[in-house]
Amino acid sequence: MLAVVPDPPPSPPHDNRPGTAPGRVLSTLNEDGTRRWVRPELAIGPFYYRRLFVAWFLIASFIGLPFVRVGGKPAMLFDVLHRRFTFFGSTFLPTDTVLLMLLMLTIFLTIFLLTALFGRVWCGWGCPQTVYMEYVFRPIERLFDGNRNKQIALDQKGGLQPKRMLKFAVFAVLSFGVANIFLAWFIGVEELSHWMNHAPSEHPAGFAIVAGTTVLMFIDFAWFREQMCVVACPYARIQAALLDKSSLIVAYDVNRGEPRGKLSKVKLEDLKIGDCIDCKACVYTCPTNIDIREGLQMECISCTQCIDACDNVMDKINKPRGLIRYTSQERLATGAGKVLRLRVMLYPLAILIVGGALGYLASHRTPAEVTALRGIGAPFTEASDGVVTNQIRLKIHNRTAHTHAYKLALANADGLKWIAPENPLTVTADHAVTTTIFVESQPNVIQGEKLIEIHVDDGSGFTTEVAFRLLGPGAKK
Ligand code: SF4
Ligand code: SF4
Repeated sequence: MLAVVPDPPPSPPHDNRPGTAPGRVLSTLNEDGTRRWVRPELAIGPFYYRRLFVAWFLIASFIGLPFVRVGGKPAMLFDVLHRRFTFFGSTFLPTDTVLLMLLMLTIFLTIFLLTALFGRVWCGWGCPQTVYMEYVFRPIERLFDGNRNKQIALDQKGGLQPKRMLKFAVFAVLSFGVANIFLAWFIGVEELSHWMNHAPSEHPAGFAIVAGTTVLMFIDFAWFREQMCVVACPYARIQAALLDKSSLIVAYDVNRGEPRGKLSKVKLEDLKIGDCIDCKACVYTCPTNIDIREGLQMECISCTQCIDACDNVMDKINKPRGLIRYTSQERLATGAGKVLRLRVMLYPLAILIVGGALGYLASHRTPAEVTALRGIGAPFTEASDGVVTNQIRLKIHNRTAHTHAYKLALANADGLKWIAPENPLTVTADHAVTTTIFVESQPNVIQGEKLIEIHVDDGSGFTTEVAFRLLGPGAKK
């Protein structure tokens, strides 16, 4: 006999006691504001394997890139301490304001374009939070705690269970590893290995940074978890503005799935119900604890786990796959969608212009940056015999991957005596050195001011002149 198991009864009316929320506020919170722990069931399918491949490629890149060198420099180094960023052999300094601005703009525009085309593809496939959580920490958790049901049972049991303590110990070790790799991106592998090979007392600040980062990593992966995506990440907040109706999203086909109903001993084809059998496999597998059947939600990180879960169910009930699939809101509503629209044409154009300007300026940068500044204090000093002395602070930033000895010379310096205590000035690769030049002039040589040029030559093809205005008695203030 054909029969449909009725849907569960509606939820009881809301509890109006003070301190309870009016309905669901967040997928990871209970109505009384307590944490709702998410214990997703792993759904194995084609998307899982594709993401696994991408995840391990990214993890390998994350670990390997700080060790790779391009043109003698690290492939990637975000040296916040010394305020310089190295990007595939090119080092950007705080003085490269325009270049940094163009680089940031290019990155943002690319994110806008990718989001407009592919929705939150970054969150589900590329973000380190998702990659490490779903492909390192979560599998280890399953190894110790078992599947979703066993994890929930352990939650209900409460207390300090030895298995879980052991799991947290493994998490702590892994967090230490991830923290070290993370820091290598910011301080470089050399500095990191120095920290690791010396007693903490020799570098207490470094030790504190490693310890602090390890603790933060542990808290994130053991406790904070999906909250990072649901409440902390700013990208989730702005995605609504970046997506449009044609953007690719993970979505449930409501036309095909509804009205949903549970199967009993019946053949689905004979019933006036949709393809969704309300098994909730898509909900139980969701790492942010949402029900994709309620439509596009901010918490959805496009991880595709619900696609695999639902496809497995469809296989079992002999229905075509794709009840939950990559599609767009427009395609779901009308059956057709367009890829080309104004924003996906404007973004690439803007990327081309901004990225082109960045490429041009970056490729025309000089191998060294030279700046001349007036000495600190009085603009000049005048001795009792009328000799005037100007102090010049000359800063040379060597952008190359090799040490250079820069020869300094003064042009237009007739009647002037100059002293450069460090000439040639040696500057190691990718570092900046400031030296002081003293310029003395006999009385009346400088009438108010005199323009000179400082000539810098690295002996291997790079020369530059920097203008400097010497001041003397009668100079305009
Ligand atoms: S997994 Fe598929 S069939 Fe099961 S509840 Fe979700 S959408 Fe419905
Ligand atoms: S709704 Fe689906 S794609 Fe979105 S986060 Fe949940 S499981 Fe992943």
